[in-house]
Amino acid sequence: MKVPFCDLKSPYLELKDELDAAYHRVMESGRYILGKEVEVFESEFASYCETNYCVGVANGLDALHLIIRAFGIGQGDEVIVPSNTFIATWLAVSHAGATPIPVEPDEHTYNIDSKRIESAITHRTKAIIVVHLYGQPADVDAVNEIAKKHKIKVIEDAAQAHGARYKGRRVGTLGDAAGFSFYPGKNLGAAGDGGAITTNDPELADKVRVLCNYGSRNKYCNDIKGFNSRLDELQAAFLCEKLKKLDEWNSRRKAIASEYYKAFLGSELTLPYVPEWADPVWHLFVVRNPQRDQIQKKLSEAGVATIIHYPIPPHLQEAYFDLGYIVGSFKVSEQIHNEVLSLPIGPQLTSAEVAAVVRALRQ
Ligand SMILES: *Cc1c(COP(=O)(O)O)cnc(C)c1O
Repeated sequence: MKVPFCDLKSPYLELKDELDAAYHRVMESGRYILGKEVEVFESEFASYCETNYCVGVANGLDALHLIIRAFGIGQGDEVIVPSNTFIATWLAVSHAGATPIPVEPDEHTYNIDSKRIESAITHRTKAIIVVHLYGQPADVDAVNEIAKKHKIKVIEDAAQAHGARYKGRRVGTLGDAAGFSFYPGKNLGAAGDGGAITTNDPELADKVRVLCNYGSRNKYCNDIKGFNSRLDELQAAFLCEKLKKLDEWNSRRKAIASEYYKAFLGSELTLPYVPEWADPVWHLFVVRNPQRDQIQKKLSEAGVATIIHYPIPPHLQEAYFDLGYIVGSFKVSEQIHNEVLSLPIGPQLTSAEVAAVVRALRQ
């Protein structure tokens, strides 16, 4: 049996009638940018996240970038980022003109280690970005406390964590603002690119709304040098339909995660660590082992597709050569990158497929 890593066609087939109707509704409306669908989605996603405001944008990277700009952060400023994350977290800071300052993760949760943040803060630090990596909420209360003391902002990168909860609260409400991605493979995914910011800060929401639409509040009247980064009507219509399924899809991911725990507890694989205050949404199920490459090869021979998230940490990417980091600069992160392997997980994975993964991995 062949087990794909991620199957994007099945969620479409599961919701075919609704998504096809959404497509026809938008096409026949004759309105494709900044219309009713985006408005409805923003309001529904805000209430799903239990936050006051949501603004749709073109993708997750822009969501983070525009939040940083809207807070007035730029040239000469520093923003603390996890050393262990997808590169978009860093790029958002760079694109605003500021410098990403990496902080190592906790070696069990893989999320930013709040105990290491204070020593990275300088008089230039304006914000801390926490990433809820793999759908596991980061320990935001500890970060908020540090941020409050230093009067800096906390921004959540929630691109992998739609619907996750931290101490009962939804991600997207835990800091000053949050960026989400609706890239097709995320827990809530569009049929193309999409993103959004959520916040309880009306001023921030308003600034992002202006920034993402040419810096314009009224058509052809431009207050600032803005961008074109809007969520379009088609994607918003698809997202409205898929949002209705998100909790159900997340709980199917959770059921698969518990199958994997049952199968591999006590094995040589390091399984994901879930603190008691976390209610994760299992964007990825990431195991660790020093023999990662051999395991991946054997699984592939058995027909089980796996992916490494991520093979090269941001500080060792050519794109960040200018920051001058070398191998050994962030050892915890590097070791994680060398040992992690993501197993197939997703709402449409069948029990037979899960059993095939378990069998192949046992062998
Ligand atoms: C996907 C992702 C992003 C970027 O989202 P895009 O919509 O692809 O721009 C940012 N941060 C993390 C952690 C992500 O996984």
